[in-house]
Amino acid sequence: MKCPVCGRVNPPKAKKCDCAYDFDARTGGVPLPLWKRYRTVLLFISPIILALLVWALFALNGKLKWIGDPG
Ligand SMILES: [Zn+2]
Repeated sequence: MKCPVCGRVNPPKAKKCDCAYDFDARTGGVPLPLWKRYRTVLLFISPIILALLVWALFALNGKLKWIGDPG
């Protein structure tokens, strides 16, 4: 049974979700924060972003040195 509020998948016999949504009364519950919902995606792309940042830093550093070089 998928919770309509937070999107968690619960056992079919579950009466309440982890977010406190009541399946019988169809009330309550707190939606998952956006960052938690996309945490897996973030975990996957964060190393790529980090690598890009480091690369950009090195590229910028090299450019600045090249500009600052009087010779
Ligand atoms: Zn829920």
